[in-house]
Amino acid sequence: AKHARKFFIHPKLLKLIEFPVLFLGATPENTPALYSLMNYADLALGTWYPKGGMHQIVRGLVAVAEELGVKIEYNQEVREVVVENGRTTGVRTATGFWPADAVVAGADYHHIEQQVLAPEHRHYSPAYWDSRTMAPSSLLFYLGVNRKLDRLRHHNLFFDEDFSQHAHEIYEAPQWPSRPLFYASVPSKTDPTVAPEGQENLFLLVPVAPDLDDPEATREKYYHLIMDRLEKHCGHSIREHVVYKRSYAHRDFVADYHSFKGNAYGLANTLKQTAILKPSLKSNKISNLYFTGQLTVPGPGVPPSLISGQVVAGEVLKEFKK
Ligand SMILES: Cc1cc2nc3c(=O)[nH]c(=O)nc-3n(C[C@H](O)[C@H](O)[C@H](O)COP(=O)(O)OP(=O)(O)OC[C@H]3O[C@@H](n4cnc5c(N)ncnc54)[C@H](O)[C@@H]3O)c2cc1C
Repeated sequence: AKHARKFFIHPKLLKLIEFPVLFLGATPENTPALYSLMNYADLALGTWYPKGGMHQIVRGLVAVAEELGVKIEYNQEVREVVVENGRTTGVRTATGFWPADAVVAGADYHHIEQQVLAPEHRHYSPAYWDSRTMAPSSLLFYLGVNRKLDRLRHHNLFFDEDFSQHAHEIYEAPQWPSRPLFYASVPSKTDPTVAPEGQENLFLLVPVAPDLDDPEATREKYYHLIMDRLEKHCGHSIREHVVYKRSYAHRDFVADYHSFKGNAYGLANTLKQTAILKPSLKSNKISNLYFTGQLTVPGPGVPPSLISGQVVAGEVLKEFKK
């Protein structure tokens, strides 16, 4: 917060500069100035969107992997990491045992380490995990709308409520926010392939504290709360034009990703959870078991998670070149 105030005075610009920090896991007052590099990347390097949607990045990776001879097995949930004499020999799924020279766990770190590994092979304790500060979760609405929304752009940040109150309700007194800020993404503004002509494809995102109950009634309450504001901004009804609607929050993150406390962005980026202070890339109990992804180094986000894969690949290679 202090760093941002060296460069900006106008309250609207300050909100714009500080909003991304909401996803990092602390209020602007408690976030290291180092993270202003996120603003720099946004403003100086630009915000990028893969044509066809985020899934195109996954398709690109799959194509490269297959070209290199990788065989991907889909719908195989790992239920056990098999360990013999301090080394893993492979993993077990519902369909059988998959032998391996080394295992790299790319799923939620806590899930593999605390739920899939047998207790004697775990290198952290439940108390360690409970003392971690998690980044926020999200309440999301994926919508298809059968009309154009002329007053929206691809990226829209709704700062029509008090930023510090929302941050307080995420970090200091975790609870459903009273008057949340939200983000509306309308990719059909720049990408005609994601919605039929004359229609829009959008999602609404409300950052919320992790580890909250998210019953249907609560989700609906927030749907109407933010829709009221969206419709006011657009100057016309949207709800009656919604032809597809799906909400997504904590329990979906847990069901689909085994996400610890239903978090959406991994560990909070506090100084005490940075670099070597993050959960380790390598198990210190099982010599050929590695971890990758947003809960280990370098951290959350698509680019850091990809870099994490690159770093762990280097570590595995080192071991096998010995
Ligand atoms: C709403 C939202 C918006 C975001 N926006 C951005 C953004 O704009 N920019 C950005 O950089 N980042 C963004 N992020 C963060 C980014 O998506 C994550 O940091 C990143 O995808 C994490 O990658 P990962 O590989 O660690 O985990 P994941 O992508 O979650 O991959 C882990 C995989 O493991 C699977 N899995 C879990 N358990 C098992 C098991 N037992 N056996 C086998 N497989 C298992 C899961 O199903 C999943 O497919 C956003 C996240 C959310 C939720």
